[in-house]
Amino acid sequence: MSTYAVIGDPIDHSLSPNLHTAAFRELNLDHSYIAYRIPKDELEEGIESLKKIKIAGFNVTIPHKVTMMKFLDKMDETCSIIGAVNTVSNNNGVLKGYNTDMEGFLDPIKKRDKIIKDCKVLLLGAGGAARAIVAGFAKEHAKSITIANRTLENAKALSEFSQKIGLDSRFIRIDNVGESAKDYDIIVNATSAGLKNEPSPISLDRINRRTMVYDIVYMPMNTDFLEKAKEKGATIIYGYEMLLGQAARAFEIWHGVKAPYNAMKKALVGGA
Ligand code: NDP
Repeated sequence: MSTYAVIGDPIDHSLSPNLHTAAFRELNLDHSYIAYRIPKDELEEGIESLKKIKIAGFNVTIPHKVTMMKFLDKMDETCSIIGAVNTVSNNNGVLKGYNTDMEGFLDPIKKRDKIIKDCKVLLLGAGGAARAIVAGFAKEHAKSITIANRTLENAKALSEFSQKIGLDSRFIRIDNVGESAKDYDIIVNATSAGLKNEPSPISLDRINRRTMVYDIVYMPMNTDFLEKAKEKGATIIYGYEMLLGQAARAFEIWHGVKAPYNAMKKALVGGA
């Protein structure tokens, strides 16, 4: 029996324990998965305690995704490109970092048979999650990305990262998106707007059925942004799909077997 964890602060509302426990149950694995609160300035001590209990692996969330990089012995390419870690394996005290957010984000797009290559992308937000998303679109050779953010400097920095990894990009203030949403093939909300039932951060009035609209906010499931997209008949992707995608990939890294996606989905959204 091995123990796994998710670390962060706050951590009480993390859905990761439900997801991984459902997967253990489905595959009859005698493991446990705990939520472990580590305050911002106590990461080093927190990791030492995890090593003492011989933690087999752990997920990393806010505020440790970037700082955790310092404590890794090894990292895979996703982790080094994105500059943040969300999954760690522990092999006899050797910590290896991965970032499954990028592939977890791409999975639902691929499931809908969308060819990302040559798509024009509008990305709302320029925080940690947006960085993994930019790396994903660069990997899939999207045609271009426009980064729209509340704070222009953050959009500029992310746009520079995008150019550096080979994805043509520009940046604008989110208020200046105006009616231009119709000019894009894929629109992604990676801002925190929606978490508190805020209205859609941009107008989707002029989009149509050919537009793909993806909200990475997963709580609530139906954000105003997605509701507006549905009204236009657009293809929509829910935030919980990315959450499931990244968790399934973390599971596969740790256990070396295919994750029981449907059981994990049921733990998250019930029979829906
Ligand atoms: P960060 O704090 O790193 O970034 C937050 C982003 O949201 C910034 O671009 C910020 O703009 C913007 N923002 C915050 N409030 C508003 C607002 N009221 N109006 C417009 N923009 C706003 O967070 P993360 O990147 O880590 O996470 C972003 C969201 O994605 C969260 O809701 C999180 O829950 C969700 N998420 C979902 C995942 C999934 O698996 N589905 C995975 C990871 C995150 P500014 O630069 O101006 O501050």
